[in-house]
Amino acid sequence: MNNPTLLKNLRNIPNFPIPGIQFKDVTTLFKSPKCMKIMLNELYEIYKDKGITKVVGIESRGFVLGAALAVKLGAGFIMCRKPGKLPAETLQETYMKEYGKDTIEIHQDAINEKDVVLIHDDLLATGGSMKAAYNLVKKFDPAKIYINFIIELTSEGQTGRNMFDKDTEISTLIKF
Ligand code: AMP
Repeated sequence: MNNPTLLKNLRNIPNFPIPGIQFKDVTTLFKSPKCMKIMLNELYEIYKDKGITKVVGIESRGFVLGAALAVKLGAGFIMCRKPGKLPAETLQETYMKEYGKDTIEIHQDAINEKDVVLIHDDLLATGGSMKAAYNLVKKFDPAKIYINFIIELTSEGQTGRNMFDKDTEISTLIKF
């Protein structure tokens, strides 16, 4: 947690995309082979014994480590995407963001009841986008759901963590 190399490499962009938002730019973590290795190894250590069969990544920053982790865990990778992108039949969920409103979709045949699912995204702020993905995954009634973020914002009264069922394990690599 809060690895100094990750903290040093993470870029903060004030007032992006709107005034008042301190945007945590994970592209500077993805750009660094050292940071990629640290993040992937930390994630693997958390989830290696959990029997994860599917990693769900949220578009688009959740795809990067989500897919890499799925390979390392020997799990499948599922994309949660913006509307109109997935080609087959989908389930949809609309949610409020820290700045605006959005909808995400998942393929109707993405998950089954035997799956142990890890949902991954880059950052937890209000929890709205992860809650939408969580609601989608719950519709499949999988054996278990885990949640992970690279970054969790806990300052400025963010309470994203409280959006989920109490027995759902949530892990984050960096906390602000
Ligand atoms: P939320 O649904 O409020 O938890 O917002 C999380 C999603 O919005 C993540 O997918 C992030 O990519 C993006 N996001 C929200 N706030 C920030 C922020 N301060 N810095 C970087 N990304 C953010």
